[in-house]
Amino acid sequence: MVAIEVKNLVKSYGSIEAVKGVSFSVKDGEIFGLIGPNGAGKTTVLRVVSTLLKITSGSVKITNLDVEKDADKIRKIISYLPEDAGAYKNLTGRAYLQFIANFFDAKQNQQMIQKGIEIANLGERIDDRVDTYSKGMMRRLLVGRALMINPKLAILDEPTSGLDVINAQEIRKLVKNTAKKGTTILLSSHNMLEVEYLCERIALISDGRILEEGEPKTLMDKYEANNIEEVFMRVVQQ
Ligand code: ATP
Repeated sequence: MVAIEVKNLVKSYGSIEAVKGVSFSVKDGEIFGLIGPNGAGKTTVLRVVSTLLKITSGSVKITNLDVEKDADKIRKIISYLPEDAGAYKNLTGRAYLQFIANFFDAKQNQQMIQKGIEIANLGERIDDRVDTYSKGMMRRLLVGRALMINPKLAILDEPTSGLDVINAQEIRKLVKNTAKKGTTILLSSHNMLEVEYLCERIALISDGRILEEGEPKTLMDKYEANNIEEVFMRVVQQ
């Protein structure tokens, strides 16, 4: 089944056309990555899919629900991790996860919090205030928050940004395992190695347009490239 269907999406901010007619679809349970340089339009696409931005034209459907007409229903089945997300600074990590879990079915609360704590993997620091966390610790807490709720679709904007190599690897494994359990993942990244490792399919986006799309291996064969970075350079130079 198709989890996300984006058709001819255009999004303008005043006179700036950030997304210029983007189409792609993501299958149920797939990890799909948008990669591209700064300002390419990745965050804009993710925010539209997350029902946070009004679209200028085109259509976006999540499991056949329309992002504009059915936004409330969609919000119940997705989880969005913004690129620059923060958490309430005067709460501890645990209290923050508790606070979020309280928005969901009380029966699942404890299980959710436990899962969030495991994903965040902050050890004893989970009981420290969020304002004492390093950038990477904060990111892990937020990834825990995004994935603990077992969303049908997780939208992750630069999930490993600011993380060191070991923590980034851990988060990638977690994202993979989450998809194996049935969550569809749409993510963005600048990190070409990351998308090559994580994503079943990718779209290369630049200046608001998708330049190429497919499985990493197929794209590497097509462009006779050793990695996605080389694919990207060749696509851009065309
Ligand atoms: P990055 O990798 O740097 O996060 P991105 O690929 O996520 O970039 P977007 O943040 O979607 O790109 O930005 C796409 C374009 O839209 C850029 O030209 C940006 O300046 C512009 N833009 C984004 N948000 C706004 C806004 N709120 N108002 C005006 N222009 C915006």
